[in-house]
Amino acid sequence: MSPASNFVLGDARAYARDDGTPGWEALEAVVGGLEGGQALALASGMAAIAAVFDQVAVGSLIVIPDDCYQGVTGLARAGEQRGRWRVRTLPATDTQAWVAACREADLLWLESPSNPLLVVADLDVICAAPRKPGATVAVDNTFATPLNQQPLGLGADVVVHSATKSLGGHSDLLAGLVVVRDDARLAALRHVRELTGATPGTLEVFLALRGLRTLALRLERSQQSAQVLAERLSVHPAVTGVRYPGLSGHPTHAAARRQLAGFGMVISFDVRGTAAAADAVCAGVRLIRHATSLGAVESTMERRAAVPGQEHLPPTLLRLSVGIESVDDLWRDLDAALQQSQAVAR
Ligand SMILES: *Cc1c(COP(=O)(O)O)cnc(C)c1O
Repeated sequence: MSPASNFVLGDARAYARDDGTPGWEALEAVVGGLEGGQALALASGMAAIAAVFDQVAVGSLIVIPDDCYQGVTGLARAGEQRGRWRVRTLPATDTQAWVAACREADLLWLESPSNPLLVVADLDVICAAPRKPGATVAVDNTFATPLNQQPLGLGADVVVHSATKSLGGHSDLLAGLVVVRDDARLAALRHVRELTGATPGTLEVFLALRGLRTLALRLERSQQSAQVLAERLSVHPAVTGVRYPGLSGHPTHAAARRQLAGFGMVISFDVRGTAAAADAVCAGVRLIRHATSLGAVESTMERRAAVPGQEHLPPTLLRLSVGIESVDDLWRDLDAALQQSQAVAR
């Protein structure tokens, strides 16, 4: 790991923004290896996503899911307003509509499982559908991590990650990656990184590599605990619904079983009562942090509809990212906060 921005002339590289650094390349090698492609590290998940969007020609049609990361929706809408491209939204579960869209769209953007409703798309069917020539199918694989799902193997052209989440895993960095299958696409994305300057920081890359060393252990623990908590929440009197791909009653459980090696660390659930009751759960927890973001060693929880731009979400929905704490400690914390919340609900 070297913090160098420039190198002795005559070496293989001259300037980091153009030529990369050994540290960035180490991170790219790890994530590329896990995804089965070639990776490029960028400043954040959104920098990675923006680099992919940058590749579409003016006037293109972009299709995005109706439930996806709010930054993607924001980026798509901003470009649409400037006349850069056209945007269509489709429910991720309407596989036939996606298959049909593959013949029309220039960029098909998928996110599975989705943030925050945890919808699992039929990636295998959609990625294999006949496409308009030159069309790109991209998958945001942040929620699954490369350990649970490798979309390039299903036929996707591009995978993106917010390394800020599970890959880093400690809520202490912002970074992102794009992973592709072919040299030409990698070169084009590298050129965007060079021109926009969306380069990763040296410390961030060091921390991401440090985090990746324990990804398998963290993920195993978190998703084991998430399954236990999801099952207990399902029968809690203060909870009216639980969304977790690992529950047999989950609407896309079949696709999850087919495609995912594990069901992930994020659970979304609805608190009985009003938004005030859900807020009371967030205020009542002691071990779980009332904070945004996900995929970290510490559990975090928030009411997504309280976030500006996310008002369309169910008002009582809480998104819980399960960390690596003792599952019984987490349950005691959650159960106590849920019970307290019902005084507010009445
Ligand atoms: C957080 C997140 C992003 C954005 O990543 P940043 O590193 O915050 O820019 C993109 N997609 C998903 C699914 C995310 O959860």
